Amino acid sequence: MQAPLYDVVVIGAGPGGSAAAYYNARLGRSVLLLDKATFPRDKTCGDGLTPRALHILDDMGVFAQAEQAGFRVNGISVFAKRGATMQASVPEHPEFRDHLLVVPRLYLDDILRQRAIQQGAQFVGDAKVARITVDEDGVDIFADVDGQPTTYRAKVAIAAVGANIGFLRDMGILEYAPRPIVAVRAYYEGLRNLGDHIQAHFEEVPMPGYGWVFPTGPDSANIGLGLWREQAGAGGSLRAALARFVASPRLRSLMDGASQVGAIKSYPLRIDFTTAPTFGKRVLLVGESAGLVSPLTGEGIDFALETGKIAAEFLQSCFTSGDFGPKALAGYDRMLRANFQSMFRFLGYLRKVYVNPLLMDRIIRLCEQAPEVRQLFVGILMSQQHPAALLKPRVLRKVLIGV
Ligand SMILES: Cc1cc2nc3c(=O)[nH]c(=O)nc-3n(C[C@H](O)[C@H](O)[C@H](O)COP(=O)(O)OP(=O)(O)OC[C@H]3O[C@@H](n4cnc5c(N)ncnc54)[C@H](O)[C@@H]3O)c2cc1C
Repeated sequence: MQAPLYDVVVIGAGPGGSAAAYYNARLGRSVLLLDKATFPRDKTCGDGLTPRALHILDDMGVFAQAEQAGFRVNGISVFAKRGATMQASVPEHPEFRDHLLVVPRLYLDDILRQRAIQQGAQFVGDAKVARITVDEDGVDIFADVDGQPTTYRAKVAIAAVGANIGFLRDMGILEYAPRPIVAVRAYYEGLRNLGDHIQAHFEEVPMPGYGWVFPTGPDSANIGLGLWREQAGAGGSLRAALARFVASPRLRSLMDGASQVGAIKSYPLRIDFTTAPTFGKRVLLVGESAGLVSPLTGEGIDFALETGKIAAEFLQSCFTSGDFGPKALAGYDRMLRANFQSMFRFLGYLRKVYVNPLLMDRIIRLCEQAPEVRQLFVGILMSQQHPAALLKPRVLRKVLIGV
């Protein structure tokens, strides 16, 4: 029997895949969304949602649900390597909300997936896609569904498989092995004096990298750390680094009486967008599959949501013309490069500040003293400000000579 023909099959129901499924369905297309997991499922993450991410949740009509499942955070506290600290509220922005949410992925991803279904997408869980093949008219998607080999067919596929590098390499889409960041996190409850800021810590964590405390409630938090360099035996040494961070003097007053809930989990992050392919034959890549995670902070939910939307909107011209060939799909790459290439290149440069504790301390002290620089820097951390703004002569003068 011939497999039914969908307009779009989306592989992966994380934020990128569910957004892609939702926006494609909203544009009137028949959409199948596949994930190897059954939902609700956890995804190892810090659970922090930038105002940029909230903007898409608003657009998808799920902000209120996400807010109910999460915790509102109004600012950020940064603790630099050599003692400088900074407190800042979320900068004002003409489009974005003035706060963050921390929403455990167990809830967030299910809210997004259900929204895609509500909009008309069909979802199949426990569907691990093994490969796709392409011919002149469409794409065949071969999946193992509940243990049964199953084939689906679509005019075009969207791969939103996150950091599943093996899948993209097997498909011949990704031709190199990206060097991911590695990160680890656990949930804790019974914390004290948590406040309503997310916290970024550089003191008691291996460099280059940072530790975070992201409140999931008034007395509970997602605590973790990311390392910017692969290290030998990363899994083991990451867990040890997290244990040291949680027991560090800076966290003592928070952690007094707190207990860990659930397991410590680690996972890689891809930050190689500037060199990553963004499409293959009849396939578009969204979110982390296109390396779209901030090289500065490790946040990628906003970029995953945004590229899910961009991919759906881009496909309008392909559905109108019936042309899904490489030349046509290259337009998607151009669109992503126009949106993100220069930002990601600068974020990569800025990451080098992490390895220079003196410079980082200087910037954080300056942020504490100069509201203008503070707002700029926090805007960059939240990916709502292009990092090149730091190169304005006025700002550079302040950073370099303090006037
Ligand atoms: C420890 C850690 C902390 C982080 N903290 C933050 C944070 O605080 N804020 C933030 O914005 N970002 C954070 N990130 C990054 C964020 O998790 C990712 O950028 C985001 O999940 C990317 O979304 P995505 O939809 O592209 O991929 P994912 O969320 O990874 O979703 C991919 C989906 O594809 C499915 N899949 C994979 N392979 C297949 C297959 N072969 N067949 C079928 N399904 C498949 C998976 O089951 C999964 O559901 C963190 C990452 C880590 C590891």
